Amino acid sequence: MKQSQLIFKTKKENILDESINANLLIKASFVKKLMSGVYSYLPLGNMVLRNIESIIREEMNKLGSQEILMPALHPKEPWEKTKRWELKEMFKIRDKEYGLGWTHEEIVVPLAKEAAFSKKDFPFSLYQIQTKFRNELRAKSGVLRGIEFLMKDLYSFHVLEKDLDVFYEKVKKSYFNIFKKCGLEKKTFLTLASGGTFSKYSHEFQTITEAGEDQIYLCEKCSLAINKEIIKQEKYQCPKCKNKKLTVKKAIEVGNIFKLYDKYTKPFNFKISDKYVFMGCYGLGISRLMGAIVEICHDEKGIIWPEQISPFNIHLISIGKVKKQADKLYQVLQKKGNKVLYDDRDKNTGEKLVEADLIGLPIRIIISEKTLQKNCIEIKKRDEKTIKLQKYNR
Ligand code: ATP
Ligand code: MG
Repeated sequence: MKQSQLIFKTKKENILDESINANLLIKASFVKKLMSGVYSYLPLGNMVLRNIESIIREEMNKLGSQEILMPALHPKEPWEKTKRWELKEMFKIRDKEYGLGWTHEEIVVPLAKEAAFSKKDFPFSLYQIQTKFRNELRAKSGVLRGIEFLMKDLYSFHVLEKDLDVFYEKVKKSYFNIFKKCGLEKKTFLTLASGGTFSKYSHEFQTITEAGEDQIYLCEKCSLAINKEIIKQEKYQCPKCKNKKLTVKKAIEVGNIFKLYDKYTKPFNFKISDKYVFMGCYGLGISRLMGAIVEICHDEKGIIWPEQISPFNIHLISIGKVKKQADKLYQVLQKKGNKVLYDDRDKNTGEKLVEADLIGLPIRIIISEKTLQKNCIEIKKRDEKTIKLQKYNR
């Protein structure tokens, strides 16, 4: 894409929002804040969301899960069955008995019940990538906590408890594959949290960042973490390796998984051979992941997008009167399969470089009269300081 065609320009002035992710994402024009907790995703930001989504889709499909899309607007009736209509999270439509979905057990369980009649239909799972609404009281952490936000929610259905256990472990693994591709694997830890109603613990995936609202005790020995909320006793030890040295860290929950057993299948009377179906639910915050990536991957100049998340992999910058050669290089790079943002604008060099650092694409290529005199182009990785010259035959 030519940068001259990009409708939303980066901003020169610093944004003084309450969080780093909002400051950088707004300044670089990835998002625009409509109100606290509600954002428009501009072309670059939308590309980032789509990239995260496709990483997640690939992993969900590998699990054998089938993608659906459920409505955001819900009738009151199924929510009364589970006694969740009055919970504070639910936004309600005035004068109508409708609510805006903040999770989808109430919709997916009746849907699954329609589809599955006999044991041989099990196990199965359904997932969606969809906008959720939550009446959050503290929506001040940029895209980390929205009152409207994008989530992947996966629901699995099992006749046998052991099948639920097997699937649950598979999802754990696939979540770590996702965090790896998102560049968060070193900072994200499996965390024990206060449980499911029936199991002792549920599991959260917590990414360590100062912007996080949770506190976790991290075991540096075996990398298991425990959400501080659940810890009752003063002196605590790692439940897995019994290590007593746990460090407290601030973290943000990017995903969580729950064994729900029959918590929601019971109110909807979803049974097979007279036994309630077992269920698991597995959430992952897509817009929150985008925010967490920015919180972790940035420096004083701007964002540093991980390869697979970045809207483009190369930022091609032309400097001076080299339009013909730069246009050609733009074509060549794209033919090689690169996604290129081409700064073809007639602007001064300093400004172009400052903007490139702010936007944060993984590789910057400069083509100028100076480099061409040496039959070269200049290549620099966003996360490295060294600039390399590479031979280029125009
Ligand atoms: P939190 O404790 O942060 O409020 P939660 O326990 O309410 O999260 P879930 O209901 O399990 O979260 O939702 C699944 C995932 O959706 C979370 O792990 C998180 O990544 C994301 N998520 C939850 N609430 C928000 C929000 N307000 N804005 C953005 N993402 C969210
Ligand atoms: Mg919440």
